[in-house]
Amino acid sequence: MSACIQCGRQLNYNEIGAHKKFINRGSREFLCIDCLAKKLDVTVDDINRKIEEFKLQGCTLFV
Ligand SMILES: [Zn+2]
Repeated sequence: MSACIQCGRQLNYNEIGAHKKFINRGSREFLCIDCLAKKLDVTVDDINRKIEEFKLQGCTLFV
């Protein structure tokens, strides 16, 4: 598994999915959900809510 390029924390599957979804699908370097929220100027809760929506839509980037 990859680590966050900002803080070095180990990333889980959904964090990698979130980065792909919100930043760039072709990315090979990823941000954790905390750094991603900061970059996008939203809260972690906002992102988690979005992840839940994408999951309901059947998006395979999330489990
Ligand atoms: Zn991070």
